[in-house]
Amino acid sequence: MSANEKAIEAVIGLEVHCQLSTDSKIFATSSTAAGEVPNSLTDPVTLGLPGCLPVLNKKVVEYAIKLGLATHCSIQRESIFARKHYLYPDLPKGYQISQYEKPICLGGNITVRLKEGIKNIGITRIHLEEDAGKSSHVDGEAVSVVDLNRAGVPLVEIVSEPDMRTSEEAGAYMRLLRQTVRYLDISDGNMEEGSLRCDANVSVRYEGSEKFGTKVEVKNINSFRFVEKAIDYEIERQSAMLRNGEEIIQETRLWDEAKGKTRSMRSKEFAEDYRYFPDPDLLPLIVDNDWIDSVKNTLPELPDQVYQRFKSMYGLDDYNADVLTQESLVARYYDQAVSVHGNAGALANWIGTELFGRLNKEGMTIENCPVSPENLADLVHLIGQNVISGKIAKKVFDEMFSSGARPAAIIEQQGLQQITDESAIMAIVQQVLDANPQQLEAYRSGKDKMFGFFVGQIMKLSEGKANPQIVNTLLKQKLDE
Ligand code: ADP
Ligand code: MG
Repeated sequence: MSANEKAIEAVIGLEVHCQLSTDSKIFATSSTAAGEVPNSLTDPVTLGLPGCLPVLNKKVVEYAIKLGLATHCSIQRESIFARKHYLYPDLPKGYQISQYEKPICLGGNITVRLKEGIKNIGITRIHLEEDAGKSSHVDGEAVSVVDLNRAGVPLVEIVSEPDMRTSEEAGAYMRLLRQTVRYLDISDGNMEEGSLRCDANVSVRYEGSEKFGTKVEVKNINSFRFVEKAIDYEIERQSAMLRNGEEIIQETRLWDEAKGKTRSMRSKEFAEDYRYFPDPDLLPLIVDNDWIDSVKNTLPELPDQVYQRFKSMYGLDDYNADVLTQESLVARYYDQAVSVHGNAGALANWIGTELFGRLNKEGMTIENCPVSPENLADLVHLIGQNVISGKIAKKVFDEMFSSGARPAAIIEQQGLQQITDESAIMAIVQQVLDANPQQLEAYRSGKDKMFGFFVGQIMKLSEGKANPQIVNTLLKQKLDE
């Protein structure tokens, strides 16, 4: 087999930065709020003024422990903050405080669900660090400006093992990380707004080869879709080079979303030497067993646990279990709704279609959903009890969404109760047959299709309220007379 025919496989490892949603910064008291007036959220520590000392925010450590436990890492009893030096206007001190040789979490993994099944992806380490400020260029002017509000915002960096082989796996890994930090309530996990940032390390090799190829690091990926697109582009580019016998050089590339391409930013020769050393202003971070245990006790049920529980407890299929566990608030909503009258399957469908459809349309989320889980449970229950039909229920749902009212009240007020009284329905059947002698004639002479026509007319006359099963039975009875 020639080199050109041999299959090529990609190797991918991700470095993900995640902003932790504490109120104040990692080593200072100023606020971490986003969208404020530039440089309004600073303080002497954030500005790097001489003579002031960083003080570690305890909450940040707690969040990192949470994430470490949720990703099966071992939490280190001692970790060290180091100075990572580089000169850039967004970093007033001239160094970033980060963890280098001794990070807080080591050796974990998470399990992603793929089309072909599940896959374990190793996590090498999770370390704490501070974010830098944000520099931007002023259009049409030869100046850059810097906003230090973001400087000192706490970050965790989650470094994966080179365990992924396709962009699909990388996308699934990113989505699971986002879901996990949101379940843990330690970050909003928003990629578009930069709370979650991903650098993708990609290399290629001939399948069956033991050795990894030279890796390229792709930066500037700021949406879930681009994670996959950037990696696919890079795999294509490197595969072509490998087949052509070209040497792949170790470099950092930038994803250019407008062009749909990566381009070189700097090669290894120009890689910076950060002159790391332990920060003399900060003590080693000591985490004892009691602290770890107390954090363990506050861990919520995690995405995969809820997914498995929904399948076993409520009998949901993979699809519905997945949809209802994407967000912990949705999962809680569903749990609450089912706890009222059961109806697990019907509620799953109502939430996945009607509720989400309407929320999306209104640009709302479950957080400000006007329909309470109890009210939705009542609505679905009323369908099951034949008080209203599924069709009328959609009308009631619309009303519930606008007014937040209880379904029973809406049904009562608007007289939407289903008609199940046989004599009342029979009267309507008779009325429709009387009004349509030609169609009746046609039916009698063998045009079976007319049955549907009559059902339609009866439902119309009853304003959709006649019970469809009873209509069918009585109509058949009448026509067969
Ligand atoms: P560096 O020393 O350049 O930071 P690391 O070994 O620390 O490299 O790895 C950084 C990231 O790159 C990790 O996520 C790791 O899984 C990934 N990685 C390492 N080697 C490769 C490779 N050959 N191909 C793809 N990804 C890799
Ligand atoms: Mg490294």
